[in-house]
Formats: sequence, structure tokens, C-alpha cells
Amino acid sequence: MTEEVKRVYAFGKDAQGNNVTEGNTSMKAILGGKGANLAEMANIGLPVPPGFTITCQTCMEYANAGNAWPEGALGTIQEYREDLEARMGKKIGDAEDPLLVSVRSGAPMSMPGMMDTVLNLGLNDQSINGLIKQTDNPRFAWDSYRRFIQMFSNVVMNLDGDLFENAITAMKHARGAASDTDLTAEDLQELVAEFKQIFAENVDAAAYPSLVVDGAVQFPQDPSVQLQLAIEAVFGSWNNPRATLYRKQNKIADDLGTAVNVQSMVFGNKGNTSATGVAFTRNPANGEKEFYGDYLVNAQGEDVVAGIRNTSPIAELKDVDGLEEAGRELEEVFVTLENHFRDMCDIEFTIEQGKLWMLQTRVGKRTAAAALHIAIEMEKEGLISKEEAVMRVDPEQLDQLLHPQFDKNASYDVVAKGLNASPGAAVGEAVFSAADAVAVAEAGRKCVLVRWETNPDDLAGMIAAEGILTSHGGKTSHAAVIARGMGAPCVCGVEALRIDAEKKQASVVGTDIVIKEGDMISIDGTTGSVVLGAVELVLPEMTGDLDTILEWADEFRTLGVRANADNPEDAELSRGFGAEGIGLCRTEHMFLGDRKQIIQTFILNEDPAVREKAVGELLAAQTGDFLGMFRAMDGLPVIVRLLDPPLHEFLESPRALDVEIAKLEAAGGDKALIAEKRMLMEQIDGMSEANPMLGLRGCRLGIVYPILPVMQVRAIATACAELQKEGLNPKPEIMIPLVSVVAELEKLRKVAEDTIAEVAAEQGVELDIPVGTMIELPRAAVTADEIGAVADFFSFGTNDLTQTTFGFSRDDVEAEFVPQYLAERLLPYNPFATIDPGVAKLVEMGVELGHKGNPDLVCGVCGEHGGDPDSVKTFHTIGLDYVSCSPYRVPLARLAAGQAALAEKMGDGRDK
Ligand code: PEP
Ligand code: MG
Repeated sequence: MTEEVKRVYAFGKDAQGNNVTEGNTSMKAILGGKGANLAEMANIGLPVPPGFTITCQTCMEYANAGNAWPEGALGTIQEYREDLEARMGKKIGDAEDPLLVSVRSGAPMSMPGMMDTVLNLGLNDQSINGLIKQTDNPRFAWDSYRRFIQMFSNVVMNLDGDLFENAITAMKHARGAASDTDLTAEDLQELVAEFKQIFAENVDAAAYPSLVVDGAVQFPQDPSVQLQLAIEAVFGSWNNPRATLYRKQNKIADDLGTAVNVQSMVFGNKGNTSATGVAFTRNPANGEKEFYGDYLVNAQGEDVVAGIRNTSPIAELKDVDGLEEAGRELEEVFVTLENHFRDMCDIEFTIEQGKLWMLQTRVGKRTAAAALHIAIEMEKEGLISKEEAVMRVDPEQLDQLLHPQFDKNASYDVVAKGLNASPGAAVGEAVFSAADAVAVAEAGRKCVLVRWETNPDDLAGMIAAEGILTSHGGKTSHAAVIARGMGAPCVCGVEALRIDAEKKQASVVGTDIVIKEGDMISIDGTTGSVVLGAVELVLPEMTGDLDTILEWADEFRTLGVRANADNPEDAELSRGFGAEGIGLCRTEHMFLGDRKQIIQTFILNEDPAVREKAVGELLAAQTGDFLGMFRAMDGLPVIVRLLDPPLHEFLESPRALDVEIAKLEAAGGDKALIAEKRMLMEQIDGMSEANPMLGLRGCRLGIVYPILPVMQVRAIATACAELQKEGLNPKPEIMIPLVSVVAELEKLRKVAEDTIAEVAAEQGVELDIPVGTMIELPRAAVTADEIGAVADFFSFGTNDLTQTTFGFSRDDVEAEFVPQYLAERLLPYNPFATIDPGVAKLVEMGVELGHKGNPDLVCGVCGEHGGDPDSVKTFHTIGLDYVSCSPYRVPLARLAAGQAALAEKMGDGRDK
């Protein structure tokens, strides 16, 4: 820990009513997001209950020492506790007028619901009397005490929450009470005794010797013990399985730690002039400028998020008797926060007997549609600049906008409706537990997770499912918040759905409809509809806000964006998304279907006449393909790559043939047919290689079978000539794959140039078709000066370049050891998804050397990394001319390229 970073920072007012201002919003790495913003809110004069924050660094020190307190830390916390008591004029645990505190986690990056919180800390058998005296409300006091014991037992001691829920249910049953609120102060007092008993019976005395009194475990009465155990539990929750999974999912580092906020409690459950709620300053689903959220009268914060009671919309708050003034003040706070943070904020608040208190704020999570709308509106309002608006949208999120929706022409019956919590539609088998969702997804099938309400333990299932459907909870419930963050469709609060998780089925109230496990269902998170059966899905068109942001990004970006496409439909689609050309047309994809037969004939027949006939048929087919492609991309470059994969990829598998022969033999089949099949199998077997990815593929194919590149170049040149004659402006380019030595390129370039010249002469046109190469082998990258001298362009094939740089088989590793490498952090991320710095170095070297060989060399990338925002940033920094990616990634790449240019302009171009 550095000198200037303290262990604990205070926030809120001192005893004289002045702000303490030790922390601020820029200190998220130290105070966590919650702590930094609590300090900031207090500093700008908003009503924040006073407290203090124990730093993230202390959490990491504690964790790294094997859950042992760093020297002096407990003493410092004690000092800050005493200071807080002095500021509040109350003591924790006091029998006359006790101070109660909350103990909440708060990491530098938002991790909603992933870590622990303890409320009402400080209650014990003495201070309960003080609380009763001060509030004159025994019911409230006993309810607070039973909540504290319940939460402490569950969160800090890891006792099963059902032990306590069952006791409450039994009590309600015994009293004939319909809900918790019908239980009296005496009932709750009895429950407290029962809860303490449950605690004593279930906590392991050996693990907690400090809790043993007179030979038996006792619920801790000493507030210092309560506080220390609660802080330790929050520290520990940084490494609980769901938090660890969430970090992995969201690429959050494991060594940040969580801060712990100890804050004086305010109560939303002190009667009908008290309330609690969560809200957003704008609508986080669509970005409209309206106050959005839910509140509950006479409740504590977790009741809203847990979805246990159904909430009311925040806009109605100021019309509720006794809450009018707080409701109006809250709306003013919304405006203050937006103006201060210059962004949409999400808020937790509590109203205690008419007085508003702010418990949390942070920049709110939002859907992609909302992110775009808010950025554009805020630019129009003059709150942010155009540059900031472009930087505000997460490129990865744009995928959501390109998510499927129900086909408007499809006919289907909506069996139930709920809240449209996260946009997009999903179709899949109904599953009723997170574990089943994971199992179905692992079996390669699609599912929709159906739950009464989700909780953080469901995270793995939520990730595995196509969509999430809940019968309870509002738009800020766990399911809604997490689904929006993941971009997964979600419909929540479908009250007509009665879910029986045990029986794995759900019924729709008032009908005889039953959804059973495995039934196909469809949900539309944009409208809130639930359908029994599979509805046809369609992808939406790009409009409005997305276009605006992408046009703004285009104003700043210097990196071109092209698409990888090998048929006219995909080419047109990508053009619609703003692609400025085709960076990679994989011609082997044109050899599937009927064409496979022709290429098989070519490979398996050594008779030149048969081969020539096959090539003639391929020529006709390929010419047609290129006519379609060049027409769709008229006026824009289309890089056509000559055949790349190992030839036997076009042949039947010898293993399948072996099985077929065995079956024929067992059935006493035709001997001649069996002999023919056996010969074929041996022939294919003879062609198989130990390492096909390093074998007869890429340019090597064209060298071994020169007739193939001649045929392909002829088809390209002929299609180009025909379209030129039609008056169009086709711009094909020819790309030679997998070159390792310059001689390969020289040889094939000559074949291409000769063929182009022949076609030009035959057709009577001038053809200007550049010839370039892919750089996808380390040897090519390090000799790029020689190769560049004979190339018009380079396209970095970062899939193969990653494979050959690491020596990782690209077809296998993601299922093999890479997951373990990622889990053990031997790799920070999958290098086939985000460009690795080592591979990027080879790209950089290739660009630099290539320009030595040819100063006019055009350089791009066409590996999968071209559609990954982090990699796009790296390619911008390296100075490539363009990235090329799959059509649906084009919008994302445009935005990422704009952001990369802006980051550089703003002096943030160094990372990576
Ligand atoms: C590459 O290797 O990056 C590339 C684009 O080619 P392919 O994926 O077809 O091997
Ligand atoms: Mg390749």
C-alpha cells in the first residue's frame, strides 16, 4: 500500500453539519464505485447517511494473507467507527439510542448483486430496547432485529436461508397471517428467539470459538464482533463462485478487491411515510427521458430488488400521502445527478418518515438501444460532446440491436404477458433450473430459463439460456438487470404464470395451458410476450439512433471497415451495414452443395480429360458466383482469396466409408460396390495428412495443382470483364493464401497476371486487378519486405497467424486446454477472440517491413479479430488501412474504429 492511500475514508457530514469530503468519484479504484460515489454525492450536498469506506486494497491485503487482517487495520476501523458515532451522536449497540449500520460491498467495477450486504448491524438484546424507545415502534424494532439475524446468519455464517424462511412461514401459518406485515411485534419477538436458536444449533462451534459462550454458540451480542465478522464476510464475497464467474464473464480483473461501506442505517420500513426504491434518471430500456424505477412503501431496500413484493412505478411517488415532498426532492436529485455526472444514473434511495436519503448512485447500465438514444439526446441537450457521445456506446452491446425479433408475419398466440425487461426475442426449450439450462446448452440445444425470480446463483444458467422468463419482480429485479447487461432477452413479472420448479412445469392462470420441461417456448423481451411454441425470428433493420452514432463514429475513424462474405446476399447485407468492400471472400465456401461432387471428381481422377471437364464446370459456376459478388459490391473492392483448405476437406471421411463398408459386408452387399468403396477409402486415406492445417493447403494447392488458380483467376477476370462491358465498376482483387516464402507468391502472381492478360485480350477490355497475399505465417511476417515487393496488398489472416505463432490448433484448443488456461489466468483472454500482443507484434512488423518492399502497400486484417473491439483498437494503433469482419460485426467495427481514433486523439492510444 502506498503512503498516500489510507485504509479508511469517511463520507457524509460531521457533527457540525459540514461535509467531510475525504473521498470523491475519481477514487473508484480505492473506494469502489459505491464508496466513491457516496462520497461524491455527499460532497455536492445531496442527503447521504454518514459512514466510512474500507478500501479495496485492504480487502486484497486481507485475501492475499490467507484471510488475515493487515497490521493496524482493525484499529483504524475502530477509530473511524468511533468517529462515526461521534458524528451521529449515537453509539452502536447503545441501550438508549443505538446507531445501526449497514455493511455493504462495493467493487471498482459494478458487479450488481454478486457480493454481500448486511443491514441493521448493531442490534442486540440491549440495543433493541433503545430502538423501541427511540421509535416508539416495537413492531418495527423486532422486525429489524429478526431481519438482521436472518441476514447475518445467511450472509456472514452461510447458514441456509430456508431455515429462517420456514420458521417465518410456520409462524404465519400458526397466526393465520396472510403476509409478513400481518405478524405482530410479539410474533416477531418470538421469531427473534427462534432465529437465535436456529443460529445456535447450526453454527459450527469449532469454526467460531469467539461465538461460544458458556459452552454453546450464541448469536454475537458484541457489536465489534458483529462488525468484524460482517466486514470479513464482505471481503470474502469478492472470491465467492458467482462473483468470480461474473468477473470472468465481464473481463474484470481478480485483483481489484471490494471496498466495504459501513454506513448509518436509515429505514424505509418505519410506516407509511417511509419507503425505499431503485430508480434510473432515464429509461434504461429505451433511453427515453423519464423517471424510471420502482418503490415500495414501508419496506427495506432488499425487498425491492428481491421482487418479493410487487412494486409501484416511481413516477407515482410524489402523489402518495406523506411522500409528496420527498418524491419532489427525489426528482430534483435526478436532475442534479445527471448534470453532475453527465450521464444516466441509477439510484437507490430510502425515505425515512418523509425524509429522503440517497444510498447509492452510479452510471446506470442500459440496453444498446438506450445507450444510443441517451448519448444522442445528451449531445443534443449540450450535456456532452459528439466525441463523448460516440465513446459512450459499448460496441459489444450493438449486437443486441441486431438481435432477433418475432417475425411480424408469423402467427402465434400470446399465452401470457409480463414486463419487457430486456429486448430481443428467444426461442428454446423451457427449463426450470439454472443447472438444467447449463445441461441443455451443453447438449447443443437452445433453452429459455423459466424461474419465479432469478438470484445470483442462477448466473451460469442465465448465461447458458437464450432468454430468461420470470413470473415475479420488476424491471429492476435481478433477472432484468443481469439480462440487460448480458444483452439476453428477458420477460419478467409474468404474474399469470404459476411456476412449479419441483415438477418442472408452469401453468397459466385462468387457462388449462401447462408449459412442461422441454416444451418449446418463445419470449419477446421487447414487448413482454410469452408464447407456447417456437415463433419464427427475424433480425431487425438498422435505423435511426444507430445510424446517427455510426455516422458520427465514421467522422472520426481512420480505419476502413470491410466485410468477410462469400455470397451476394451477405455482401449486400454488409454493404447495408456500411462495409466499404469485401476484405475476404473465401472461395472454398462456394464449393459446397452440388459443387462438392465436381471438386471430388477433380481430386480423385488422374485422367486429364476428366479433370479438365470438372474444371470447366467449376469455371462456369465460379464465374456466376463472382458476377453476383461484384455486382452486389459495385464500385467497392472485393478481395477474392484463391482456394485455401486441404483438399481432402472436400472428400468423404475414410472412417465413415469404413463403417459403410462394414455394414455392406455384414448385409452381404454387392461385392463390386464394396470393392469400389474400399478403393475409394484407400485413395482418400492415402491423401490424409498428420497435420492437415500445416499440409497441402493455401498457396501450396495452387502450386501442386496449377489448373485450379488458373480456373479461379479466369472466372474472376471474366466476371470483371463482363460487368465492365455492362458499364459497371467491378473492383476485384486476387489474394494468394498462406504464403511463407516470396517465391510462392512470385510464381502464383505470374500465373494470375498471365491469366488476367489472356482474358483481357479475349474480352477486348483493360483489366486492372491487383494481386496480393495473406500474411498468416510468422515467416511471412518477418520477411514481409521481400514479400511486400511483389504484393499490391497484404491481408493479415490472424486466425492462422495466431495458430502458427502459438502453435495452438485453432480447431481444437478452445475445447481443450484454453478454458483451463483462462480459468488459471495463464492467458488473460482467448487469443483467437482478441488479438494477442505477441501476434500483434508480428502484424506490426509485417506492416512496417511490407512498406519497405512496397510503399503503396494496402494493409488490412481479415481474421476473426477484425470484429473484436479490443483488437480493432490495436489494429488502429498499428496503422492498418482496414479491418474486415463478418457482416453483423460491421457496425460494431465502425464504432470501435471511431472510438480507437478518438481515444488516440484524447491521449489514450497507448494501451495494448
Ligand atoms: C485467417 O487465417 O485469419 C483467415 C482469415 O483465413 P481462414 O480463417 O479462412 O483460414
Ligand atoms: Mg487462414
